[in-house]
Amino acid sequence: MEKKQFVTESKKLLDMMINSIYTHKEIFLRELISNASDAIDKLYYRSLTDESVKMNRGDYLIRLTTDKDASTLTVSDNGIGMTSEQLETNLGTIAKSGSYDFKNENDKKEDIDIIGQFGVGFYSAFMVADKITVRSRAFGSDEAWQWESEGADGYTLTKCDKDTAGTDVILHLRADTEDEKYSEYLDAWKIKNLVKKYSDYIRYPIKMESESQELKEGKKYGDEDAFETVTKDETLNSMVPLWKKKASEITDEQYAAFYREKFYDFEAPVKTIHFHSEGLSEFDAMLFVPKKAPFDYYTKDYEKGLQLYSSGVMIMEKCADLLPDYFSFVRGIVDSADLSLNISREMLQHDRQLKAIAKAVEKKIKTELAKLMESDRVAYEEFWKAFGMQIKFGVYSDYGMHKDVLQDLILFTSSAEKKLVSLKEYTARCKEEQKKIYYAAAETVDKAAMLPQTEAVTAKGFEVLYLTDDIDEFALRSLKEYDGKEFVNVCAENLDIATEEEKEAIKKENEDSGDLLTAMKEALGDAVASVRFTNTLKQHPVCLSSEGALSTEMEKVLNKMPGAQDENVKAQIVLEINAEHPIAAKLKALYETDKDKVANYAKILYAQARLIGGLTIENPAELSSLVCDLMI
Ligand code: ADP
Repeated sequence: MEKKQFVTESKKLLDMMINSIYTHKEIFLRELISNASDAIDKLYYRSLTDESVKMNRGDYLIRLTTDKDASTLTVSDNGIGMTSEQLETNLGTIAKSGSYDFKNENDKKEDIDIIGQFGVGFYSAFMVADKITVRSRAFGSDEAWQWESEGADGYTLTKCDKDTAGTDVILHLRADTEDEKYSEYLDAWKIKNLVKKYSDYIRYPIKMESESQELKEGKKYGDEDAFETVTKDETLNSMVPLWKKKASEITDEQYAAFYREKFYDFEAPVKTIHFHSEGLSEFDAMLFVPKKAPFDYYTKDYEKGLQLYSSGVMIMEKCADLLPDYFSFVRGIVDSADLSLNISREMLQHDRQLKAIAKAVEKKIKTELAKLMESDRVAYEEFWKAFGMQIKFGVYSDYGMHKDVLQDLILFTSSAEKKLVSLKEYTARCKEEQKKIYYAAAETVDKAAMLPQTEAVTAKGFEVLYLTDDIDEFALRSLKEYDGKEFVNVCAENLDIATEEEKEAIKKENEDSGDLLTAMKEALGDAVASVRFTNTLKQHPVCLSSEGALSTEMEKVLNKMPGAQDENVKAQIVLEINAEHPIAAKLKALYETDKDKVANYAKILYAQARLIGGLTIENPAELSSLVCDLMI
């Protein structure tokens, strides 16, 4: 019979599985059992609303069968089953979660990453089997189909006989080699151990018939013919979901293993939050904060949500309503007996119980993250690196409505040692007379630190927060203040770091040079709102500050957003000249002796100020010729 081909990406993955050096080949069993359990979940869920499902809760089971002569291990379930189309799409393709990058397929480490990341479930069986036969009958269908494959060169699909709905996955185990004993997967003891290790919490019984030698009735040890071979049908798993157990009974390893398996991560979570809540509605929750952002996290493909169970039965794979967007990185499970099982998903959204659970979950995540910041700073900073952006978006979105939840989770690099600091830490250590929280926005920490105004503020002994993500300044603007201290951009013209005397002195200076400054402003036209002297700058000759709500950094961010080209926003810019810098004296002298040159000086200084501030120059050619004129 002609073989059908796998889609290309599946083929590569299969090759990888077949040649895998993956050290935990045994996980294949867990994967197949999970698939079986999911298939039963689907049928059970259907039974709640569909009377044609004649099964009782107690009828569902997963069965493991070994055949030593044929060297096969079979995983059977009486779940929802698959139609021939489903066999083809589910097992002939894996390109379901976007595009994969298999460039490093020969790299050993990469094997593990891919196995972990994409939960390639079914395919992992090729690590131990050289042929797989799947016989399945979909619930409600009167025909059954057999899918069979020996690996990368394709698969066949034929009709077969099967009396009841469900699926048998038959693994034809590979021949033993020197390094690998595949035959151990025929061993009852080995299988029992694997089920205990990986699948103990599966909610349906995992049964296996096994033979053991038992003492015959009336016989004693040592008697002749004392033993007989007894076949027993055993349930191998305890069926208590992990989240129903007490936290004290679960080891970190168990949590991590559960998380990895359930949520396809290859790393342990940075934080596990397991709790039982008995407030407005009673529920168990087991939540995980991943260590790294999934590859699609900051794209629109990423779907947030927690798995929702009702009394141990999964009713929704990703219940988005349980998580606010700013905690969308959290994975996990919520199990509540209070949810009515047969309400539709649309109704569920409006369910009061669900809302109460979501609120409690949000609160818990917040407190636990805040605790983590205190108790394990290294872990928290790792978390921050992965998901800080999302939290900052949360602060900014909905007009800053969530600031109470989020403001104490934020970190920024600060001028003090260039380390990450929380707002609480910043205000706790700032001087009493400091009434504001200063920040500098630029593309990088180094650039923010090099801004002339940053230097001016730190020289006064104030700490400056360095904002480097596009969202940062918008987030702080949404917060407005923290602990009664207003946030101000060091480039804002109302910075107010000078003493009264200094203010008086510069005011006089500006008044005295009114004509010069007006001439400079005129030369620059609409580019600036005004030109003035300042006495806060240290070494730099000039800088730009902004008047009003929009900073130059915000201008930059807004104008690079899609669609911004048609309607550019503009910050109100002030060109500030260091009154103590020799250039100030030079300008004053020029204004007396050679007024015409002042305009050119103004243009050059303005261009310099833009460069220092990390902005682009509108007319580089003009600048170049102006500078050359000065040089020759
Ligand atoms: P995943 O479980 O991550 O979706 P798998 O490769 O393990 O990936 O399985 C692919 C799909 O095949 C499953 O999503 C499911 O729809 C289907 N499937 C696998 N095993 C079974 C089974 N025993 N019964 C019904 N459907 C199954």
